[in-house]
Amino acid sequence: MKKVILIRYGEILLKGLNRSSFENKLISNIKRSVHKLGKVTVRKSQARIYIEPEEENYNFDEAIQLLSKVFGIVSVSPVWKIDTDYNTIKEYSVKMVRDLVERKGYSTFKVETKRGNKQFPMDSPEISRDLGAHVLRNVPGLSVDVKNPHFILYVEVRDFTYIYSEIIPAVCGMPLGTNGKALLLLSGGIDSPAAGWMLAKRGVEIDAVHYYSYPYTSERAKEKVIELTKILASYCYSINLHIVPFTDIQMEIYEKCPHEELTIIMRRVMMQIAEKIANKTGSMALITGESVGQVASQTIQSLAVTNAAVSMPVFRPLIGMDKNEVVDIAKKIGTFETSILPYEDCCTVFVAKHPVTKPKLERIMLSESKLDIAGLIEKAIEDTEVITITAE
Ligand code: ATP
Ligand code: MG
Repeated sequence: MKKVILIRYGEILLKGLNRSSFENKLISNIKRSVHKLGKVTVRKSQARIYIEPEEENYNFDEAIQLLSKVFGIVSVSPVWKIDTDYNTIKEYSVKMVRDLVERKGYSTFKVETKRGNKQFPMDSPEISRDLGAHVLRNVPGLSVDVKNPHFILYVEVRDFTYIYSEIIPAVCGMPLGTNGKALLLLSGGIDSPAAGWMLAKRGVEIDAVHYYSYPYTSERAKEKVIELTKILASYCYSINLHIVPFTDIQMEIYEKCPHEELTIIMRRVMMQIAEKIANKTGSMALITGESVGQVASQTIQSLAVTNAAVSMPVFRPLIGMDKNEVVDIAKKIGTFETSILPYEDCCTVFVAKHPVTKPKLERIMLSESKLDIAGLIEKAIEDTEVITITAE
């Protein structure tokens, strides 16, 4: 018997001719994720991937924890790999069940069998029935409950046979790196980390840009964004975070433009800087955490005016979500607790009492004509600090 990890994947299986390139990417991402835990062999067989550790005391719990964050994986199971021989299957099924009964106090179960190996002389229902009876005879204090058992003993009869009781759900999606790269506008709030995660889930590599207004926003606000990037990197391996000084731009807008237009003009400048950074660094789209109607700068008119600042596609995966739906995602991915820490955002520093909610593009552009936008943008990009943040 060998302890291995069984990995199931989903949507990739719908791919046609290029399915193997998605599978290969998934395999290389899997290797990258568990790399630090020791040497393993990763094997693909019959639309499953198996990880076989080479070392005796491999940390399965941590491996499973890491794998549950790999995009493209639907679920994982720690399994026992045994020979496809019925006596061996009976012997190890009893051992596994005995262990579960002793360790977890379970007392009801059922057997579910999948037979991928059609040479095997018994069919699936026959195996489940016979194996169930054999286990019952050999493990005292146990009974069968087909409707609501404490646990299921899964038996997969293939080239080898795999037995297990746990199926741990993972994040699904597409393997990271199969869908190009995009640049996330990352604030310290709840929304933008969730937005970035949603695109990463679809296989898009992520870089991030953050605008900060020192000394109006503190060093702590910047550290918070670095911390959020770290959490995202636990799904994305490595993220280049561009930290752009924004104070001079905000001061200039504050001095020269009508105050009710501050936020919308600021958002347009942010988009333009992001587009320039994206073009320089190989990102093909921008990502924001905007959702229709959330604030004045996210009315449909404001979004149209913001959008008109750039020609690159802008992805807004939260566009139709309510705040509580976004909060659920943030909690699931682990960014929520960091996002709600108190901090000052550059947008809250120079905020008008009554911002425009229905801006007109021509009016906004007229206000902007008083600014040397190109010069301000160039300077900000020149002073940008880039930090590469990798998964720990
Ligand atoms: P979040 O919760 O992500 O802060 P929000 O609801 O507070 O979003 P806004 O402040 O209007 O919304 O910002 C809308 C979007 O603009 C954010 O989701 C983010 O993508 C981007 N953004 C806002 N502030 C910054 C910033 N300081 N640096 C980078 N991007 C920003
Ligand atoms: Mg914000």
